[in-house]
Amino acid sequence: NSYKRIDAHLSSLGYCTRGEAKKFLRIFEVLVKDKRVFDPSLKAYHDDIKIDGEPIDAETITILLNKPNGFICSHNDAGSLIYSLIPQRWNRRNPKISTVGRLDVDTTGAIILTDDGDLNHRLTSPKSDVIKVYEATLAKPLKGDEAQIFASGELMLNGEKKPLLPAILEIITPTQVRLEIVEGKYHQVKRMFAAVGNRVVKLHRLNFAGFDVEDLKEGEYKFIKL
Ligand code: URA
Repeated sequence: NSYKRIDAHLSSLGYCTRGEAKKFLRIFEVLVKDKRVFDPSLKAYHDDIKIDGEPIDAETITILLNKPNGFICSHNDAGSLIYSLIPQRWNRRNPKISTVGRLDVDTTGAIILTDDGDLNHRLTSPKSDVIKVYEATLAKPLKGDEAQIFASGELMLNGEKKPLLPAILEIITPTQVRLEIVEGKYHQVKRMFAAVGNRVVKLHRLNFAGFDVEDLKEGEYKFIKL
């Protein structure tokens, strides 16, 4: 619950720039402890501020989003960015909201977005052992030895110096699998199946760090705590 100038609150949460704060206070009803304020230099506690009858946005935002196909996990790419799926005000925050790791443009499912840099680092550092569960559709039927190879802790991907940690493969049909991994190497799932002579034609992440997207439609998100 930070204590600082109203214009500093408004600009760090993306409502307006510091320079626009005076005008913002004329257009929108900003209350501090239920009293309307017009002076952007006034200091206030975050939790005492209301804007147009609503509590001001939280100081940190962490959401789970069900990523649709075709959206890019990048801040500065041509094409449809995943950031277009959240309120635009959130994208003007400082610190910035970023994805926790990335999903490929053609991968769907669970992805966390947060402006909490420590949390993001904790969940993505190579030492973290966050569990990710994927459902993959394969181009060819499984041969039969894939689960054992993935579980061995000896699978070497092209271009890597160390073998992958053990991963759990659950076979649903000969071309439909569930795969649980703890690492998050670049294109890891697609490269794992390439390493056993197959190809992923569809990839969906069901769960990230214990958070499921079952209850979210594509493009929907919910606030989470971790
Ligand atoms: N593995 C991949 O190959 N792609 C993803 O998007 C995620 C994991």
